[in-house]
Amino acid sequence: MPAAGRPVSRPDARTPVRTCIGCRGRGGRSDLVRVVVVEGVLVPDPRARIAGRGAWLHPDPACLDLAVRRRALARALRAEVSPDVTAVRVELERRHAEQRSEPSSTPHDG
Ligand SMILES: [Zn+2]
Repeated sequence: MPAAGRPVSRPDARTPVRTCIGCRGRGGRSDLVRVVVVEGVLVPDPRARIAGRGAWLHPDPACLDLAVRRRALARALRAEVSPDVTAVRVELERRHAEQRSEPSSTPHDG
């Protein structure tokens, strides 16, 4: 009579850890926003669909500022990056606002 098989401790789908190039903090894929350079311009790639070398940032404009100041973008992406990072800033600010909106205690007017 076969005994129960050996207990298989399966690490459930290890989520790769990314490092934010701004603050160097770590987070999972869903915590960070991927950015890539397309023709010298930094653009957000929220669905991670654009091929090529990407970098990761927290959805926080402060992290983008840090990355720009440290010249971490060009280093991480191995490319010349335009100083105009508006496209990514807009995306990060939107995500940031979404995260801050709390479901509870929403002030209701009228
Ligand atoms: Zn960060």
